Amino acid sequence: MPTLAFLIGGRVELARPWRGVRGAAQQGDAMDINEKNALYLLGTGTPTPTKSRFGTAYVLQIGRDFLLFDCGPAATYKLVRADLWPTQIDYLFLTHHHFDHNADLPCFLLCRWDQSTGRENPLRVFGPPPTREIIQKLIGPDGAFSDDWKARVNAPLSQHVHANRGGSLPRPPPAMEAADVAAGEVFRHGRWMVTAAHVHHVEPWLRSLAYRVDTDRGSIVFAGDTGPCGELNHLAKGTNVFVANCWNHQKTMDGDGEALGQTGTLDAARFARDSGADVLILTHTGPSLCRPGSRERAISDIATVYQGETVFGEEGMVLTLWQR
Ligand SMILES: [Zn+2]
Repeated sequence: MPTLAFLIGGRVELARPWRGVRGAAQQGDAMDINEKNALYLLGTGTPTPTKSRFGTAYVLQIGRDFLLFDCGPAATYKLVRADLWPTQIDYLFLTHHHFDHNADLPCFLLCRWDQSTGRENPLRVFGPPPTREIIQKLIGPDGAFSDDWKARVNAPLSQHVHANRGGSLPRPPPAMEAADVAAGEVFRHGRWMVTAAHVHHVEPWLRSLAYRVDTDRGSIVFAGDTGPCGELNHLAKGTNVFVANCWNHQKTMDGDGEALGQTGTLDAARFARDSGADVLILTHTGPSLCRPGSRERAISDIATVYQGETVFGEEGMVLTLWQR
């Protein structure tokens, strides 16, 4: 049986331990937060809304650091439903600027700022151009949402709310570091490093990136939306975990022209196989693929190409990564 993940109270444990760089997992160990590494699947959908999924967003926890990848519809709300909090997120990486990947950006930026008391770390945002411009247009001094934050900065009511929450006055306007990034090293931290590669989606209209995170325990690749792509194969070589945006069955997509710049079941399997990943996580799954029966066929088709563990991602899943 290739589908090996199972749900325990909203959290997913894997049927066999993942091979981290420092050895096998010990399920059930009490764990210090510094030791905790987890992947929160907040949004596992596409531009087509369904009752169970819509757009993409994932949080990667590496000890005390929380990295948000993409900020699709309702990402902030889904974050809180996952027992996380916007001010915990100090890093946001955007794969590209389709709305199913960035539509919650104004909500997340404003909510994180609004809930801040001034003692939080500044938010750092990375993405392909025009990430900086989009953020300026949203919450810059003349941005679409500037009336909101100017009122919250200046109105006595809002000043009381801020002060009662523990903030000091005068209240600073939203501030964050936003960077347009390209292929190569994006950001290096003490325990982890993020590298990007250009992938093939809808260029030249939008530029799209895949991200790889290497930690002292293991590595994970977020492929984003892409068709077959040598740059992604190169980026993903030797990763432990491969997160694939898988729209539909390969045969269907090859027949209807939708494999052009998107990943189907067998392309996801080939990506995972060629990378050497232990685990393939399917997300950004379309309504047709998610139907009962259809998803089982997807898993068995993938198993003809890829011998590792395949997880059919659901919104609200939390996957424990790289336990010792
Ligand atoms: Zn998409």
